[in-house]
Amino acid sequence: MKLQLVVINPTGLHARPAAIFTAAAKKFESTIRIRNLTKESEWANAKSVLGVLGIGVECNHEIEIEVEGADEANAAEALRHAIENRLGEEVVPVQAAGISTFPKPVSGKFAETSERILKGIPGASGIAIGPAHLWQEKSLAVPRYTGCDFATQSARLTSAREAARKELESLQAKIARDAGVSESKIFEAHQMFLDDPTLLEAVENFLHQGLNAEAVWMDQVTETANVLSKLSDATLAARAADLRDVGERVLKYLTGESAVTEGMNLVEASVVIARDLTPSQTASLDKSRVLAFCTAEGGPTAHTAILARALQIPAVVGLGNEILSVSENETLIVNGAAGQVTRQPTESEIIEAQKQKSELEEIYEHARDSASEPAITKDGVRVEVVANIGSVEESRKALELGAEGIGLLRTEFLYLRRDTAPSEDEQYEAYKAIFDVMQNRPVVVRTLDIGGDKDLPYLDLPQEENPFLGWRAIRICLERSDIFQPQLRALLRAAVGHYIRIMFPMIATLEEIRAAKAAVIMASDALRSKAIPFAQKVQLGMMVEIPSAAVMSDIFAREVDFFSIGTNDLTQYTMAAERTNKHVAQLGDAMHPAVLRLIKQITDSAHESGRWVGICGELGGDADAIPVLLGIGVNELSMVPALIPQAKAIIRTCDISSARRLAEEVLKLDTAHTVRLAVKKATEI
Ligand code: PEP
Ligand code: MG
Repeated sequence: MKLQLVVINPTGLHARPAAIFTAAAKKFESTIRIRNLTKESEWANAKSVLGVLGIGVECNHEIEIEVEGADEANAAEALRHAIENRLGEEVVPVQAAGISTFPKPVSGKFAETSERILKGIPGASGIAIGPAHLWQEKSLAVPRYTGCDFATQSARLTSAREAARKELESLQAKIARDAGVSESKIFEAHQMFLDDPTLLEAVENFLHQGLNAEAVWMDQVTETANVLSKLSDATLAARAADLRDVGERVLKYLTGESAVTEGMNLVEASVVIARDLTPSQTASLDKSRVLAFCTAEGGPTAHTAILARALQIPAVVGLGNEILSVSENETLIVNGAAGQVTRQPTESEIIEAQKQKSELEEIYEHARDSASEPAITKDGVRVEVVANIGSVEESRKALELGAEGIGLLRTEFLYLRRDTAPSEDEQYEAYKAIFDVMQNRPVVVRTLDIGGDKDLPYLDLPQEENPFLGWRAIRICLERSDIFQPQLRALLRAAVGHYIRIMFPMIATLEEIRAAKAAVIMASDALRSKAIPFAQKVQLGMMVEIPSAAVMSDIFAREVDFFSIGTNDLTQYTMAAERTNKHVAQLGDAMHPAVLRLIKQITDSAHESGRWVGICGELGGDADAIPVLLGIGVNELSMVPALIPQAKAIIRTCDISSARRLAEEVLKLDTAHTVRLAVKKATEI
């Protein structure tokens, strides 16, 4: 059966609405096709995001949907309903709807402190000194000829795709091993692109016209990637780079050349300079030969930076085009933590950098050796050092690196990259697997923190102009008990026999924390009424990451068992600097006295009510911040597993009375920069 409808979404069937439409279509077994009548487009597979995006449906375009199969009546009705309800989007003026809510990686440059010193964004900490190697973006030439036999070209493409798939699988395994499973997931998405029905269908059509496989494949990849890169939805826009990456990988096998990794075959250990790096390029390099990465584009949340952190290679990103003018083999000093690259360093600068580097290495080696020991300050105060994780693999890694528990289990991992919400039982199994690894160590589980820059198409979240200030985290969960209750029940069930604490993200008001606690009672009652075993006594806490909660922390402290300070969000909201926007990245330093004063206020309020306080934002693992946080009196530091050995080593060099003096001093300072300088001065040996 066929339906003809008019799409009234302001941006048409682009980005988020397309993803929602596809997710709705996938729920049915029928074959579903869609075409753009206004543009007289070809039919597209309605279950493929690439397909739906490709027909370019704009506002007021008429579309036709064709549904064939056993459940066609239900499918047609559901899709009509979805389109008529604007796929969950509000109707807002086209101009406003077109504003990107998430910055695309664009080149940019921060103020230079001198001609030789380039400032970028810290990507991964560490110091490197060595020759520059300019990563050449050598695209392979695409041979193009006609008069080809379809079967031969199709078979060539299939075997190239298979070879690419094998390579992606081993790349995924390598990254899972070196950097962690969540970092490796990007290659799962790449494998999905290899099989995208729309892409393959288009390729097949052109192969029938007698063109060779290389030309057809790359034309289709480029065309689709161009469509994606123009989308304002960053998640989809970012997929353009991934799709091109996959395209090149297959092309490499079709042509028998190896462009994808060629430039990374470094003869000597070097500082790799690039405009930007794809995840494959970053992942396929020989870790022992890359001293550091420096990129002109990209932000701190770009894949290069994330992978570099996990691989423990220093990185500075977003350096602007200036970095591309360095000469091959020119000596550079890269300071990852400072986000700084020094060109033509003087002899004394090199000596100083070498000194810092060997000190860091020594500290790290020693720290690794003693990572399983507790972190006790010189004057005998034990500080709990725990991990931020998002998967069972990371929980194992955290234990290996000396985590004494989990300070933040981000549960979003269970909900992302899928078409429907995870069932209660599926969640139960996933939580239990992590709790079993941690045995009786404390685990703080955060309930779903979705929204902001994390979208779930199946939740039909409205498109928002300021998602970080919008319907996010607890705000969604309190309204969507169909999502919240199964999560709470699964957690309470999995908590039996373990030491689990539950905390709620993005609490802004007292009403919210009370409602969240009531939701836990409701989940407990439901389990009790069915005689399902569950943990009766679970500590309930909240993340303090919104200034209103920080300022009112004395009142909130009476409501909860603990606070965990989310410095990432607390900083973005205090400084009004969106955390994913690299243009305001320098405003987002959590060492700003304004943020530190709030942390002090929260900690004091908690202690006055006999509660404990942890830090689970990035500040918790920031080497400069640790002595200050100890001086402020926080009880627990939670961080990515890789930083635990270093954090424990730093704690062992501190004594609480000096840390208190340092905290008092920096709380009176005026800028994040002077705070960091004061810490450096105070901790110099
Ligand atoms: C934070 O905001 O500091 C935090 C830990 O939460 P997330 O980074 O997941 O928002
Ligand atoms: Mg947060």
